[in-house]
Amino acid sequence: MNVPRDHCIRCGECCLSSSPTLHTEDLDLLREGIIKKGDLYTVRKGELIRNNIHGRLELASREMIKVRERLEKEGGCIFYVHEERKCTIYERRPVQCVALKCWDTSEFMEVYPREKPCRRDVIEDPLLMAFADKHEERCNYSHLHRYARAIELAGESAVEGILELLRYDFHMRRFLAENLHLNRNEADLLLGRPLTETIGMFGLKVVQKGEKEFFLTII
Ligand code: SF4
Ligand code: SF4
Repeated sequence: MNVPRDHCIRCGECCLSSSPTLHTEDLDLLREGIIKKGDLYTVRKGELIRNNIHGRLELASREMIKVRERLEKEGGCIFYVHEERKCTIYERRPVQCVALKCWDTSEFMEVYPREKPCRRDVIEDPLLMAFADKHEERCNYSHLHRYARAIELAGESAVEGILELLRYDFHMRRFLAENLHLNRNEADLLLGRPLTETIGMFGLKVVQKGEKEFFLTII
C-alpha cells in the first residue's frame, strides 16, 4: 500500500524538473552573493514557458527572473548537485523552493502570486539597461507573434520580418560580448534567451550560415 508522503525525502525531483522564479524577498540573496547574476536569466513577456502548477505551456504574462537550468541531459536547477542529491544553497534557497512541498501545494500557491522582480531590479548599470530597453523595443515577443501569425498570408515578407529580429538579437549579443565583455549567461539575464533558441516556440528553427545568413525552417 502506498503511504501518502508528508515530508520531504530529498529525492530531488522538484529540483530536476525546473528552477525557481525569484520573488522580491530573494533579492537579498543577490545582495549577499549567495546567488550571482550569472546564475540567472530573464523570461521576457510573451515567451512560451511551462506553468508547473497547471502542467501546461503558456505565454509569460510578465517579465520574470529565473535561476538558470543545466543544459546537460539531466537538466534541472544549476544549484542541484545530482551525484550528491543536494542543493548547494539549501539553507538560503529562494522562497519558492522553501514553499514547495510536493505533497501539499498550499504554501507554494500562497507564495506564487507575490511580487516578482524584473531586470530593472537586478541590473543597476544604466548603460546596460539602455541596451536592454532598446532590444526589448525592437525584439518584443509581440512583434514575433505578429510575424509568425502572418507567415501563412504574407509569406516571404513575414519571414523576412522574423529574420531581421533574429539578426538584430544576434548582433546585439555579439556587440555586448566584444565591447562590454558580457558572457553568455550575463547576456541571457540582460536580453533574455537568444531568439535563435526561443524561436522554436513558433514551430520554427533557425539555420545559420556564417555571421550574416539566417534561414528559417519548420520544425
Ligand atoms: S519536495 Fe518532494 S519532489 Fe521535492 S525533493 Fe522533497 S520529496 Fe522530492
Ligand atoms: S535552489 Fe536548491 S532547492 Fe531550489 S530548485 Fe535549485 S537546487 Fe532545488
